[in-house]
Amino acid sequence: MTANYSTQFRSIKDEVSPGEWEARVNLAACYRLTDSFGMTDLIYNHITARIPGDDEHLLINLYGLLYKEISASNLVKIDLEGNILWQPDTDYGINKSGYVIHGAIHRARPELKCVIHTHTRAGMAVCSMKCGLLPMTQTSMRFVGHLGYHDYEGPALDLAERERLVRDLGPHDAMLLRNHGLLTCGATIQQAFNTMYQLEMSCRSQVDAMAGGQEIVLPPQEVIDHTANLYQPGTRRPYGVLEWHAMLRLLDAEGKNSGYPPYWH
Ligand SMILES: [Zn+2]
Repeated sequence: MTANYSTQFRSIKDEVSPGEWEARVNLAACYRLTDSFGMTDLIYNHITARIPGDDEHLLINLYGLLYKEISASNLVKIDLEGNILWQPDTDYGINKSGYVIHGAIHRARPELKCVIHTHTRAGMAVCSMKCGLLPMTQTSMRFVGHLGYHDYEGPALDLAERERLVRDLGPHDAMLLRNHGLLTCGATIQQAFNTMYQLEMSCRSQVDAMAGGQEIVLPPQEVIDHTANLYQPGTRRPYGVLEWHAMLRLLDAEGKNSGYPPYWH
């Protein structure tokens, strides 16, 4: 018997609730956008989202697919512990150990609908800098006072580390996992993606500026604090709402003739 690693999946649109289907489409789009903006790590990492009306159940990627191959119908339904409740007809499964970080946060912060974790080059670089994320750009200032830091403890995540992860995230929607990577979460999939994009761009610009070797200028603290406040999702407008339609248009255009099935399949 050969394993079934086919990447052709039948549509399950008519088999799930409209709310679940919408979450599946948006989460699949979030995976594609993460790929589009260069934030993938081969087949690794996860983005998880709660199913509306069924908050104890989450959607997660099949372990083995490229983010380019993830679509609404091939996302796996799991419970908060990572047990599989439904998966498409395939021999791919999920990476349960990779899910541990997500599980800890989903359990502790029920208001969060989506958790994104990446291992990008710039993210890993800034996570390894003693100074952490510098408030050196308008983009990075939004994270001042709103960013958690979690020290590296090795890849094996025990129960006690889950508690420390939750403690270190605190009330924030973003965290640097020291020597490891980036994490963002949000009240919606769209907002979590927007936050991850901003955090990634903050890290890339910091790495570039430091590589340039020139002294970095920082604005006065009151300007930084004022800016951080203005960019909070609750201050002026939520993030990811206006942006999302443009992001979906980008995916539709990029998907034409790409050879990969559309995210909304
Ligand atoms: Zn990781």
